[in-house]
Formats: sequence, structure tokens, C-alpha cells
Amino acid sequence: MRYIAMCSNGKDSLAMVLLLIEKNAPLDEVVFYDTGMEFEAIYKNWHKLSKLLNNKIIKTTTLKPPIPFEEKAFNIVVNERGGGTHHGYSWCGGRCRWGTTDKLRIMDKYCESEPTTCYVGIAADETKRIAKERKPYKKLPLVDWNMTEKDCLNYCRKSGWSWQEGGVDLYDVLDRVSCWCCRNKNKKELRNIYKYLPKYWDKLKDFQTKTSIPMKKFYNNKVQYGSVFELEKIFRNEEN
Ligand code: SF4
Repeated sequence: MRYIAMCSNGKDSLAMVLLLIEKNAPLDEVVFYDTGMEFEAIYKNWHKLSKLLNNKIIKTTTLKPPIPFEEKAFNIVVNERGGGTHHGYSWCGGRCRWGTTDKLRIMDKYCESEPTTCYVGIAADETKRIAKERKPYKKLPLVDWNMTEKDCLNYCRKSGWSWQEGGVDLYDVLDRVSCWCCRNKNKKELRNIYKYLPKYWDKLKDFQTKTSIPMKKFYNNKVQYGSVFELEKIFRNEEN
């Protein structure tokens, strides 16, 4: 039996890995699934964590999607239900989380290639995620330890970890540190990207130029915005 921890290098799964080590729990390998669209702070933390793990003779593995994220978002030919085709799946998130589907499929395939116990970093207060059915080899140590999301962030920070970029810690301006282009980001998070992380705001604008679908189309109930450019107008007006 091998023991694997899945680590996105966000606060919860990072706290889980650090605690697994601290508690001397069986741990052979830590796996990071790189969508290709992670914040730089995530890559930095993976680099730092890999060094720490390798010093303890714990294997590190990076998995990637078979088709690069942007290739799938803009270029591949997609068959439509009523016949016809178009290029790319566009934004990922909301009802069309094609990147998450890839991620789960690839991580499960990796785990199931030999007998494995897989630690997953779901926090004790993520009740909806905890309630979901999952394969029996997946374990939730943070739930067993009663570690909430807040506890995980505090534990990571206390242990000397941060997600610094552009003069801010990503966890001070974002609710979740997921892909920078994630359609699930709310208006407050997008405002903070515009304000504090202009490099990623430019990337979002570039993403928007490559698809006719507005980033926030499905969240448009009575809200006068949809595309990244419409959002930018709103944020600029707020500043004046
Ligand atoms: S974080 Fe968002 S963009 Fe990234 S894979 Fe998940 S749903 Fe898609």
C-alpha cells in the first residue's frame, strides 16, 4: 500500500501535508496537479515544499492535463449537440468545469494504478464537500483532526508559509486561491485582482479577447456586467 497526499499548495492541502509529516503519519508521495493556470505563489510554494519533502525522502510528483489548459479553452474542435463544431470550451467554472473534470479523472487514474491510500485536503468545516460520496481509498485527515479552513491558514502562516504576490498575500484578497482564470471568482475577488494583481488582470483581459463568451455570463442576473472589459469599466468608475 502506498500513501499519497494530493496537494494543490493552497492553505488546506498544504496544512494537511505539513501535519501528516508532523504527526509521523505514513506518507510516501505528494502529488500536485498543475492546471498550468496557477498563481506564481502556488508554484513557489510547490518548489519550497518539494525541497522539504525530498529532504525527508518523500517522493514528489507533478501531474498535468493531457491537453494544455489554453489549448482546450480556445483551440480544440468541440462537437456541438445539434451537430456542428466550434473551437475551445472557453472559460472554466460555473456549470462547465471542464478543467476540474480533467483534474479528477487524471488524479484518480494515478491513484488507482496501484493499491493506494490517498489523503485529500478537505477541511472540517467544508460540510458540502465532506457529504459528497467518494472512493473508499480517499481519506480526509483534516476532518479527523477537526481542522477548519481558518485553522489551516493559521497553521500554514504560523509555520512560515505565505502566498505573497505583488505586495499582497493572495489569501488576504481572494476567498479561494484557485486558477487565476477561474470563472467562479466573485466580484469582490475580481475587484481585488484588478486593484492588487494587475498582471493577472491583464491576463484575464487577454483571455477574454480569445473568447466571445463573457467571463461572468451565468452570474448576470440583474447585474450589469459580463465580460472582463465591462468589469474593468465598473472598477475604474468606482475609483473616481
Ligand atoms: S479552479 Fe476553476 S478554472 Fe481551475 S479547474 Fe477548477 S473550476 Fe476550472
